[in-house]
Order: sequence, then C-alpha cells, then structure tokens
Amino acid sequence: MKPSHVKELIDLLDKSKEIVIVTHWSPDGDAMGSSLGLYNYLIQKQHHVTVITPNDYPAFLFWMQGNDKVIDFSATPNPAKKAVAKADLIFCLDFNALGRIDSLGEEVGKSKAKKCIIDHHPQPEDFADYMLHTVKTSSTCELVYDFIVLMGDQKLINKDVSNCLYAGIMTDTGSFRFPSTSSKTHRVIADLIEAGAEHSEIHNRIYDNNTEDKLRLLGYSFVEKLVVLKQYGTAFFSLSAAELSRFNYRKGDTEGLVNYALSIEGIYFGVFIVERDGKVKLSFRSRGNFDVNKFARANFSGGGHANAAGGVSELSLDETIAKLVSLLPGKE
Ligand code: 5GP
Ligand code: MN
Repeated sequence: MKPSHVKELIDLLDKSKEIVIVTHWSPDGDAMGSSLGLYNYLIQKQHHVTVITPNDYPAFLFWMQGNDKVIDFSATPNPAKKAVAKADLIFCLDFNALGRIDSLGEEVGKSKAKKCIIDHHPQPEDFADYMLHTVKTSSTCELVYDFIVLMGDQKLINKDVSNCLYAGIMTDTGSFRFPSTSSKTHRVIADLIEAGAEHSEIHNRIYDNNTEDKLRLLGYSFVEKLVVLKQYGTAFFSLSAAELSRFNYRKGDTEGLVNYALSIEGIYFGVFIVERDGKVKLSFRSRGNFDVNKFARANFSGGGHANAAGGVSELSLDETIAKLVSLLPGKE
C-alpha cells in the first residue's frame, strides 16, 4: 500500500465512522476470520461496523466473536443494503472482483463510500480507493494483521482479533503446510498466540466437530465417487444434489474433500464437482506448475490462486464431468 494511502487511512480511522466489511460468496475460514478479525479491531476504535456475507457459511465458523451480528445478504438483504448505503468506508476482504459477491456487488459498486481491498488473490479488479494486496501472502488474515500494524495499532490485537486471524491463517495454509506459509507467517502466528489466540481450541472447533452424516458422506465419496485418471495426473470426486440430501448435507460437509483427490501418488490435478443450490460448482487443486486459476478462468467462469481455485458450470452435472474430462491437462 502506498505510504500516502496509509496516512489517509490512519486519518480516516481516527474519527468514528460507519464501516462495512464484505467478503466473498460462500465464505471460508479466511473470509470469516479476516472479516471478524478486522471487525473486532475496528470496534475498539469506536467505529460502527457491520459485517455482511453474500450467503451463508459453515457452522464450524460460528464460534468467532461478533458472528451473531453478521448479516447474510441472501437471507436479509434490506439491513445489508441500508448499511452499505450509509457507509463511509467499505472493506472488501479475501476477494477482489465485485462478481465474487454476487448481487451484493451491485450495492457495493454504486455506494459512494471509500473502498479498501485487503486480499491475496491474483488479478485484482480496479474498483477500490485503497488496496493492501499481494499474492505472496498466505492469507487475507495475515494481511489484516499487517494492516493493523500499518495503522500503528498492534496493541489493539487482543484475544478476539487473534482468535479470528489465527483461524483464517490456519485454514488457508492447510494448517501451515502450503508453500505460501513463510517464516513471517509463523512470526505473525507467534504474535497472535502471545496476544491470546487459543490455537489448540481453534483447531478442535474447526476440525474436530464432524457429524456422523458428514463422515458417512465422505466414506461414500471415497468408496463410490472417486475417479482416478492416472494417465492425465487427475483425480476427481463428484456429488449430485440427491447424494447430498441422502446424507443430510450441511454447508461445509465436503470442505477439504478435494485435497484427498490431490493427495494420491502421481496425481497433480484434483477436482471436486458438486451440484448445490441449483448450480454445478467446481473446486480445483493442483501441485506444481499446472495453474488452476488460469484453468478455472478459461473454462469455468472462475478463478482463485495458481494451486487452488474454483468455478461454476451452467451444464448438468454429467455434462460438466464430460467437459472437465475433455479439457484435462495433457489431452489434445
Ligand atoms: P474453494 O475450492 O475452496 O471453494 O476455493 C478455492 C479458491 O478459489 C479460493 O481462493 C476461492 O476464493 C477461489 N474461488 C472458488 N470459487 C471461485 C469462483 O467461482 N470464482 C473465483 N473468482 N474464485 C473462486
Ligand atoms: Mn484467502
């Protein structure tokens, strides 16, 4: 971020403001951790802060401080529209294109508020006044930590802020194992633990709260739904809406499934395809040089990072699988 922008933001945040924080469609740990981490920081500076999500998110993230005040735009659009309309400043966290927040993007786009993107995805759109952006950082939560330090407010990183930021860094780094995890990430984590982050508890809250239905859905997926195409270095799972409802699917139940496809020896492209909310969604993961952000943008109106991306298909589930197979890396 430009030094002049840092100064402007310090001045802006010096007086009480109406602030809105928005994050991307189907928020994950980094999206909610960064939004509520920033929320728990800003409320200490006497701002009036509203966190808005485009739609709902998994229950394993509900423990974060401030979660009870989050507005889900898809469920209750009116209070969200009001908050956006009267905002002085809107933070856009963990996304950088208004299309990623669905119809909430129209509200944000037409708002007169100053906008600040804090994000680590490639190819940001040019709609914000301020931007703390780099693709090198592990997570948006790590950037929110940097942002608070830039504002000269490290002392305001309390237990609530730390718990939220810790959760997002942990989930976006695959528990500190993806290549984006740097020595600085670990230094930030050390600071968060010193400031009160309950690291072991957070791990339990996010990863050790499975339902029986979820485990049976995973078991079914492993036994019946895994397709391994060794010749193309690809493995994928697919699940139909009927299969989800057979196992009483709840949001978040298939989170992480795609990583198992990628964990197979010799596989460098893992995919999860799911029919959900009337759409076919795809999650892509890769190892090495195969750039799934490019693949998702070119073929499935999506995007993300070089090794973790997602997209959507207008075709049926079976047609989407056929399209995917026809596009596999190494296929002519
Ligand atoms: P996931 O597969 O976990 O849903 O998403 C992996 C990464 O891709 C995340 O960084 C997420 O923000 C991004 N992503 C997922 N779906 C989409 C999409 O439809 N469009 C774009 N631009 N990014 C996506
Ligand atoms: Mn992220």
